[in-house]
Amino acid sequence: MTTELRPMAPAWIGSLKPYQAGKPIEETAREFGLPEASIIKLASNENPLGMPPKARAAIDSIIHGGARYPDPNGHALKVALARKYGVEKNWLTLGNGSSDILELVARAFLQPARADDDCNAVSSQYAFMAWQNAVKATGARLVSVPAKDYGHDLDAMAQAVSASTRVVYVANPNNPTGTFFTEAALCAFLDRIPANVIVLLDEAYNEYLEPALRYDSAALVRRYPNLVVSRTFSKAFGLAGLRVGFAIATPHVTDLLNRVRQTFNVNSLAQAAAIAALDDSAYLDESWRLNREGMARFYEVCRELRLDYVESQGNFVMIKVGNSAELFDALLRRGIIVRKITDYGLGEWLRITVGLPEENERFFAALRELTAVNA
Ligand SMILES: *Cc1c(COP(=O)(O)O)cnc(C)c1O
Repeated sequence: MTTELRPMAPAWIGSLKPYQAGKPIEETAREFGLPEASIIKLASNENPLGMPPKARAAIDSIIHGGARYPDPNGHALKVALARKYGVEKNWLTLGNGSSDILELVARAFLQPARADDDCNAVSSQYAFMAWQNAVKATGARLVSVPAKDYGHDLDAMAQAVSASTRVVYVANPNNPTGTFFTEAALCAFLDRIPANVIVLLDEAYNEYLEPALRYDSAALVRRYPNLVVSRTFSKAFGLAGLRVGFAIATPHVTDLLNRVRQTFNVNSLAQAAAIAALDDSAYLDESWRLNREGMARFYEVCRELRLDYVESQGNFVMIKVGNSAELFDALLRRGIIVRKITDYGLGEWLRITVGLPEENERFFAALRELTAVNA
């Protein structure tokens, strides 16, 4: 295609950077000539236990229905979610992963910034890249508030909200930093945000929290009707490949999200698997315990190797390694996929997902060896 005939897109689309996802196992095998089975992936915060057994059985039992469109309203999944989280069905929006929820919020509440309306969304430095991209794709302005100790500076974020702000995004815990703020801090923050500004609270890692840190986010939506809570089945629930997430919001907000949603945004296998996963408490408990034990080992090894890390409430940890690109490549050659977070301005750090004990130990052994060479 000649340049003259190149289709035009708005400037804000041209300036978007595609999201860099964790490197797939298949791609690593291809590029490095390694057997797939020898590769471990600690790059995308997936659940290392594999799918919940109940979800697997649920998919098997409905796979014959693949010729039919899924339920566009996700009735059965919403009934299960409503029961579990103590809300009405009309407080729930399903998404093709929670990334879809983030996009629905951006699309429903943002528009291109103009001279007479500097439409913007406020988030923290180190905010999840998928959210940053969702905002930029609408043409609205992204206001990025400097982080405090790698976490959200909620005080500065509240101050950054102006008459042109439509959405404030907070992630608790945050990815890629793993930082967390308490319910008291969240409420003090929500008290300061105008009622006509949406607060999008991304809780993708909620299930990994210690019991003492948990709070009832659905109850918070009742208290703060401008709050949208986003959750996912991709992490602790072990269904990243099936793509299902959901939002809890008031019926008014839910109605707006529903208007911009693709009719069949959540496929039938994902709906069935999610219902079963909600019910698989043995799997969820095991995932939680495995993560706690793995995380403790990560901290231990970081202290042994004198590497800085940020304490994490998720299922991943950010480690300061210096030349992250070099270490990333050296790990790949050993069949270990981790995550570079250079796009976040964290070029000296790597983000590693807590895997199975044997996967973690293989990573530690490689890290020990590679950091000794560098020293
Ligand atoms: C992983 C993650 C999500 C979930 O993405 P899905 O689209 O549900 O797979 C959402 N927010 C954050 C901060 C995440 O790290």
